[in-house]
Amino acid sequence: MDKILRIDVGAEGGPKIKLTDLGSYAGLGGRAMTSAIVSKEVPPLCHPLGADNKFVIAPGLLSGTAAAMSGRISVGCKSPLTGGIKEANAGGQPSQMLARLGYAAIVLEGKPKDDTLYKIFINKDGVNIKPDNSLKTLGNYDVVEKMKSEFGEKIACISIGPAGEMKMSAASVACTDMEQRPTRHCGRGGVGAVMGSKGIKVIVIDDEGTAMRIPKDSEKFKEANRVFVAGLKKHPVSGQALPAYGTNVLTNIVNEAGGYPTRNFSSGRFEGASKISGETEAALENERGGEGSATHGCHRGCIIRCSGTFYDKDGNYVTKQPEYETVWAHGGNCGIDDLDAIAQIDRLDDDYGIDTIEMGATIGVAMEAGLAKFGDARAAINLVKEVGKGTDLGRILGNGAAVTGKVFGVERVPVVKGQSMPAYDPRTVQGMGVTYATSTMGADHTAGYAVTANILGVGGSVDPLKPVGQVELSRNLQIATAAVDATGMCIFIAFAVLDQPETFQALIDMINAFYDLNLKADDVANLGKSILKNEREFNKAAGFTPQHDRLPGYFSKEKLPPHNITFQVSDAELDQLFNW
Ligand code: SF4
Repeated sequence: MDKILRIDVGAEGGPKIKLTDLGSYAGLGGRAMTSAIVSKEVPPLCHPLGADNKFVIAPGLLSGTAAAMSGRISVGCKSPLTGGIKEANAGGQPSQMLARLGYAAIVLEGKPKDDTLYKIFINKDGVNIKPDNSLKTLGNYDVVEKMKSEFGEKIACISIGPAGEMKMSAASVACTDMEQRPTRHCGRGGVGAVMGSKGIKVIVIDDEGTAMRIPKDSEKFKEANRVFVAGLKKHPVSGQALPAYGTNVLTNIVNEAGGYPTRNFSSGRFEGASKISGETEAALENERGGEGSATHGCHRGCIIRCSGTFYDKDGNYVTKQPEYETVWAHGGNCGIDDLDAIAQIDRLDDDYGIDTIEMGATIGVAMEAGLAKFGDARAAINLVKEVGKGTDLGRILGNGAAVTGKVFGVERVPVVKGQSMPAYDPRTVQGMGVTYATSTMGADHTAGYAVTANILGVGGSVDPLKPVGQVELSRNLQIATAAVDATGMCIFIAFAVLDQPETFQALIDMINAFYDLNLKADDVANLGKSILKNEREFNKAAGFTPQHDRLPGYFSKEKLPPHNITFQVSDAELDQLFNW
């Protein structure tokens, strides 16, 4: 990965390509790369959909290698949803393929002169950009089918659906999985709207004729990878629970803990949880057969395999196995206990190119506003269809929970920095509340997954109902996560890495053997800190103050059943998170 592909979409005569070397970005990957480029090259006060914003795509440092779990791809930009810096990452095939083709980053810059839509094709022979207005308004599934018929079955695609074209703040960027389906999404922060603002519908990647990236020290790399894989397989979460039930194994656990946000964060326990749990979902998938079952990787080299395939009762493909966050967002958060309806909405979200978390939280707010009744799955499906059609109501909903709450006069809107909270109520999982409040990304569970020590007993134990120790927990997790997001590793390695020192060491050994480095644990922490520092400085220059590092007031006033508790971490403690 020795080059950066820059595409000026506003050039005279159509997009122009420029290849540059890495320069000061050498040694960076994933989130470290996207956040470095955005913080250095994007004016913090620019309009997120304007010429000055940049859309950056970066494989992780270990992507394209034989390292297990290394296929996450990061996209970064100034977010139209939060107004701050954004990195969102996804699995699927593009990261491994782009890395093998030698690209450390793709940067889309400028503003198109007209509304022509373009497709980009990248293979070992170079880069080709062509206008293709036949792609306009197509859903991600149709886009991928068209690209397959044009470029063959072995491609990977990075694309947007109609939501991205309409520049909605909940729009995602889709990445194709191993079956060439657009099911893995860089979901959060409206990154799809920024790709749409650059007039690019799809980036098609073909890595035929390329080889796996070769480590500087192959033997050490191989051995480190072996220890790493053994560590992942040994840990009960990555070795047993996730492969057996997928991420949705969390539904029963979080619900039991009383932290499952129900009917727009008005309760911490959902009476219908068992009907939509990972156990029920896995049993249903196994019963329906096909290539289903909860043991499916989203990219080459995944050995945890937390994913699966969801079929309807007649055996027809619907979508990938809906993730915990998606099942929660469109399930318990909307009072819906019907897995088939949830899977149908997941398919719509993926096809329109919308973040399932933002969309589910938005439907929850819309239900609170009276647009539909909690529990009414048919009404929820129809609301999501409004988004795909781009009706006036759909455009409101497609811009997320904060906009929807404002338009319909709802006070209980679960957002931080304009971004919806995921599937853990911050009153019952107070460490997550700290992460939601302080993350540079807005409310984001992946930024510092305190559920580990708060609920799962992984990486220590911190009482989820008390404020003590939550800031330190979230700080350490945010630093570690930022570093992991630079490697291209799936975040689900974290369970084994946090609990097993030899697995953490194996990860460092792999990076050292690949790049001929001598990094120690402190260096990894320093990488995480430097990423967060870049992001914090960008956000400060974009106008963010300590008052933006807060949860909405109702979390400190409304007691959440069943524990009847409020969020108790003080503002003064929150302000200490980045003092390391
Ligand atoms: S563990 Fe799950 S999310 Fe992570 S790479 Fe594998 S299938 Fe994808």
